[in-house]
Amino acid sequence: MINNKKMSSSSLCVKEHQENRTTKPHQLPIYATSSFEFESMEDGIDIFTGKKSGHVYSRYGNPTVDTVSQKLADIEAFNTGLQAYGYLTSSGMSAISTVVLSMLKTGDNILTQSDLYGGTTEMFLKVISQSGIKTIFTDLAIIDEVEYILQTNRNIKLLYFETPANPTMKCIDIHHMARLAKKYGIITCVDNTFCTPIIQQPLAMGIDFVIHSTTKYLNGHGNSIAGVIIGHDEKYKKQIWTTLKLLGTTCNAWDAWLINNGIKTLPLRMQKHSENAMEVAMYLSKHPNVRTVNYNGLPDHPWHEVASKQMKSYGGMLSFEAVGTLKQVLTMINKLHFCTMAPTLGDVDTLVLHPATSSHLNVEKTQREANGISDGLVRLSIGIEDVHDIIADLQNALK
Ligand SMILES: *Cc1c(COP(=O)(O)O)cnc(C)c1O
Repeated sequence: MINNKKMSSSSLCVKEHQENRTTKPHQLPIYATSSFEFESMEDGIDIFTGKKSGHVYSRYGNPTVDTVSQKLADIEAFNTGLQAYGYLTSSGMSAISTVVLSMLKTGDNILTQSDLYGGTTEMFLKVISQSGIKTIFTDLAIIDEVEYILQTNRNIKLLYFETPANPTMKCIDIHHMARLAKKYGIITCVDNTFCTPIIQQPLAMGIDFVIHSTTKYLNGHGNSIAGVIIGHDEKYKKQIWTTLKLLGTTCNAWDAWLINNGIKTLPLRMQKHSENAMEVAMYLSKHPNVRTVNYNGLPDHPWHEVASKQMKSYGGMLSFEAVGTLKQVLTMINKLHFCTMAPTLGDVDTLVLHPATSSHLNVEKTQREANGISDGLVRLSIGIEDVHDIIADLQNALK
């Protein structure tokens, strides 16, 4: 320990003071430090070589980040009997790229659906492809077709999917996908962003990895960008961590701390999101200016049965097709004043998005329409406000 009294004032400015902390913090502190001091050289060597647990450098691990990572893994694996591990990442996108680059090599293929989150499709086609990893798109709801592809293409190493899919809420049967993947020795990864572990637990259904854009529901308050990778098979853990630290796709302590605040109210929020979305869906389904409503909670929705099998409630996301020309639909959206026009989802307030002119702008029109994304389609991320305010806003705009 340095004697502060013997230091010059300029050194006093520079050196860390002894921590003035005698009691345990009630709330998780933000460890805003890039590195961690060693007690001795021997101590440093032991931590570096993994002989002793401890922190070295925040890209390798940080107490705030690690605490929240494990908390998310525990929630995702709750009641499954699995020992899950979690790694927070710098974004949802980096959670996906880290899993793919950890598990696949040149020559390997990915099997996925064509209606993925737009960024994921673009990443597979424009970035991952550069490493000689090909992506095959198919309709994962046609089980026989999936099995045929797996049977005939032995280069497929990863089955990657989202359920419900954005923005049509189409569901993929997780149990079926897990069973086929096991049969053909393939790794599975599910993007569980729309559901959160409160609603859907893919690991319990036989999936190897779950990823989230924590930017959405897990944070819930729209003030951080991050992601998480959750796995349970110990044989993959080291490779995920190695890729994460070497690609530098790790999360920072500030964002981890914001996520920690968000997840405290996650079950309450998901319940309210689901209740509000159900009411809005029922309202819209009776409106004369609405052609279709995509919400899995509606008994006549084509994916209601699959959703009911694997989801505990139906979540806060829905979309609907308004009657009218593109111009009329955009005018209608402009008339929404309570709902916020913002290109994200999962926040506490209700958000509206027009997929054809935003998230799916780069998707070719015929392909977009084949995936159910017409010019009239409007996506809503239903918030936790008083549902009457949301409905009144829609009522006024849809007139
Ligand atoms: C937003 C989103 C992503 C990407 O996450 P970022 O945090 O923006 O990188 C991936 N998948 C889904 C389903 C998303 O909604």
